[in-house]
Amino acid sequence: MDKLIRNGTVIDGTGEVIQNGVVAIKGDKIAAIGPAADFIGIDTEEVIDAEGGYVMPGLIDTHVHMMMEIKDVRETLVTPFSMRFYEALTYMHRTLNAGITTVRDAGFADLGVKQAIETGLISGPRMQISVNPLTITGGHGDNWMVSDMDLTNRAYPGFPSGVCDGPEQVRQKVREMLRAGADIIKVHATGGVMSPTDHPEFTQFSMEELRIIVNEAAYRKGCKVMAHAQGTEGIKQAVRAGIHSIEHGIYLDDEAIELMLEHGTYLVPTLLAPVSVVEASETNEHMPAYAVDKAKEVMEIHQSSVAKAYEAGVKIAMGTDAGVMAHGTNLRELALMCDIGMSPMEAILASTKIAAECLGWDDRIGTIAEGKLADLVIVQENPLENIVSLADTNTVRTVIQGGNVKKQLTAEASFIN
Ligand SMILES: [Zn+2]
Repeated sequence: MDKLIRNGTVIDGTGEVIQNGVVAIKGDKIAAIGPAADFIGIDTEEVIDAEGGYVMPGLIDTHVHMMMEIKDVRETLVTPFSMRFYEALTYMHRTLNAGITTVRDAGFADLGVKQAIETGLISGPRMQISVNPLTITGGHGDNWMVSDMDLTNRAYPGFPSGVCDGPEQVRQKVREMLRAGADIIKVHATGGVMSPTDHPEFTQFSMEELRIIVNEAAYRKGCKVMAHAQGTEGIKQAVRAGIHSIEHGIYLDDEAIELMLEHGTYLVPTLLAPVSVVEASETNEHMPAYAVDKAKEVMEIHQSSVAKAYEAGVKIAMGTDAGVMAHGTNLRELALMCDIGMSPMEAILASTKIAAECLGWDDRIGTIAEGKLADLVIVQENPLENIVSLADTNTVRTVIQGGNVKKQLTAEASFIN
């Protein structure tokens, strides 16, 4: 073996807990997992002492924006374009430091960013990218301001514009995003909190447009579609059109929940998003009033919607909208998931096994099992007893990605790669 993780409790991501468990790593994969008694006399190059901590699969955030972090709009206006790529390096670093080894980027990371990680040029979470979300003119994602200033993420090489209207344009946009390397198509099916002239309840894209988007993605590359969907009608349309995951799901009614169960649609709650917008407004006077007002308006409705969906048995994958809040604070989401009724174990499964299933990567990540990629974290405190502890990146002592130790905080050695 290359590495043996010993002296820890293993929470394997399937719901099982192994007291005094061992995880063996060979190359970039998990070679074995089991109780310590099974590993007596096994040869290894290196022992990683979990020091009585808890070994878990690397965590997965199914909704992040790796290329942005919210800031004062006046600062955005004077920041050089290429700074975003350098800033993203620190966002990725913070994400790994928090114990997140895989993300699904819900907008703005292009193929170059993903390749820089895959080739080992930079350190960051494994990534699925959507490139640029599809949006209607004037909808969430079209950040044209009434001053005629346009803060929309406009096209640059490898990054097509996402604004499109009508059947022909939406079909072409899907093709453009796939050509640019999208693993998943992101669509804004309703308005949102951070856009100036719309509202979460507004429906965007017609049923016809949504069906074309879903079919085109499936037809061209077997690719799935994730939908920013907050208002009730927009959510139902998206589910009926065959969308894979509903992001945010603020206004879910009984019918929407029934439809999601029927279609097997995932819900990615992002409970942290409105909470953090309201928090940011308390420390940053330049947070736009339209966003703060909408966030306050939806916060409680959002929580009771997600609670209803959870009780009904909708599949929930952990996602935060990181970028709307600071990268690296992602795991606060698990405590919020427990506040709406999930158990700590269920919140952990939503962030490992189920998140991997949502990505279609459950064959390689999400649980600690022989043959899967060695993406692992060791945390000091028991998350099953204190889920809030995960929000403190200092409790995340060790982060291993593909068999490589990316973070190690121990008495002898402390480093973050
Ligand atoms: Zn988002």
